[in-house]
Amino acid sequence: MTDLLQTYVSAWPGIWVIDTVRYLVAAALMAAILRIFWRAGLARRKLQARDATVRDVRREVLASLRSALIFSLLGTIVFVAVRQGWVTIYRGFDEVGPLHLALSLAFMLIAHDTYFYWTHRAMHHRRLFTLFHGLHHLSRTPTAWAAYSFSIPEAIVQGAFVPLFIVFVPMHDVALFAFVAVQIVRNVMGHAGTEIHPASFGPGRWLGWNNTTTHHDLHHETGRYNYGLYFRWWDKLMGTEHPDYRRKFESIAAPRAALETLKAEVRS
Ligand SMILES: [Zn+2]
Ligand SMILES: [Zn+2]
Repeated sequence: MTDLLQTYVSAWPGIWVIDTVRYLVAAALMAAILRIFWRAGLARRKLQARDATVRDVRREVLASLRSALIFSLLGTIVFVAVRQGWVTIYRGFDEVGPLHLALSLAFMLIAHDTYFYWTHRAMHHRRLFTLFHGLHHLSRTPTAWAAYSFSIPEAIVQGAFVPLFIVFVPMHDVALFAFVAVQIVRNVMGHAGTEIHPASFGPGRWLGWNNTTTHHDLHHETGRYNYGLYFRWWDKLMGTEHPDYRRKFESIAAPRAALETLKAEVRS
């Protein structure tokens, strides 16, 4: 027991730094991209007339730093479990090939999207909302800094996914690293407040099955609809996608497609 505790205590600081720096770098990079390309066209892609206040951003940063701390406490459990041989993390390609890496990464993202959709919808239940999810929705006009802006109970729910998943699916360390990178990048993109996805991410286009900034921003603006994280599948299947999503995304990111949609609507 003391050995376990010692492993945990010695591993935790490094994991906490990685989780915190990952959030800070991703959010700062997004804020820098918005600032650098604002006049070059991003200003036209701003999603809400309202601006986030300094108070909003301060709350988002502080809550996100606290969530990174909670994620690191949970992540260190995974580290100890790997050390003890309770769960398997592959290194190199001696035991499994690149195909396992690719398929397990795809499966993990789909599983996380499903976990996120259903826990998110549950947290919107009036009995759970205030305790779990109310803090995240204080950001009516979110910024990239809101990526991890969760209450303590919500951060535990969100941070529990990786430890739970790894118990059932042995992962390659590179796949796990890629998952964590995709997760934070997609998260800051969803909260950027300015549509940064190209027109090819529009509904009906070849990347249209992915969520966009408009998709998650509508969730924050309205407090309902669009509960998914990476993909639109669950929202489409459960009828929870915002009815104006297509129109709003196209009007901002694909004006020509918006015109075609309008013409089709007039014709029908
Ligand atoms: Zn929500
Ligand atoms: Zn959000």
